[in-house]
Amino acid sequence: MSLDGHYDDQNVFAKIIQGELPCVKVYEDDDVLSFLDIFPQAQGHTLVIPKGVSARNFLDFPEDRIGTYMSRVQMIAKGVTRALSPDGVVITQFNGAAAGQTVFHLHFHILPKFDNLPFQRHGQGQPADQDVLQSLAEKIRASL
Ligand code: 5GP
Repeated sequence: MSLDGHYDDQNVFAKIIQGELPCVKVYEDDDVLSFLDIFPQAQGHTLVIPKGVSARNFLDFPEDRIGTYMSRVQMIAKGVTRALSPDGVVITQFNGAAAGQTVFHLHFHILPKFDNLPFQRHGQGQPADQDVLQSLAEKIRASL
C-alpha cells in the first residue's frame, strides 16, 4: 500500500485491538496497546500501537496525540530494556509498503539489540513460541 489510501478497519492490528485476534500483551491503556511481535526480529521485539484512531502510518496520525503516543513508546522501551538488559535498542517504524511496512495500522517497533546477535529478517520466518513470548511479556510487564 502506498502512502495514500484508506484505512482498512479489518487489518490485523485493528482486529487485535478489538479482541478479535489474540496477542501477547505487554501494556494497555486508553491510548495505546503494546504486545510482542509474532515474528520477532530479536528477543523481546515489542510493538506499540495507538488505539481509537484510524491511522495507517505516522503521517496520518493526529498531531495533537503524538506527544502521548511517543511518551508511551518511551515508557515501554524503558521497560523492555530494564527487563532484558540489551546492549542497545532500536526504535523504528515504517511508512508505506515501499518503506517496508506490512501492517497498515501505525506502530512503532522496539527492538532490543544484543552484541553478537544479528536481527532476524523483518516479518518473516516461523511464529515465535507462545510460551517464550508469555515469559518475556511477563518480565517486561514487571519492569514497566
Ligand atoms: P511492519 O512491517 O508493518 O513495520 O511491521 C508489522 C509487524 O507486525 C511485523 O514485525 C510482523 O512480524 C508483525 N505481525 C504481523 N502479524 C502479526 C500478528 O498477527 N500478531 C503479532 N503479534 N505481530 C504480527
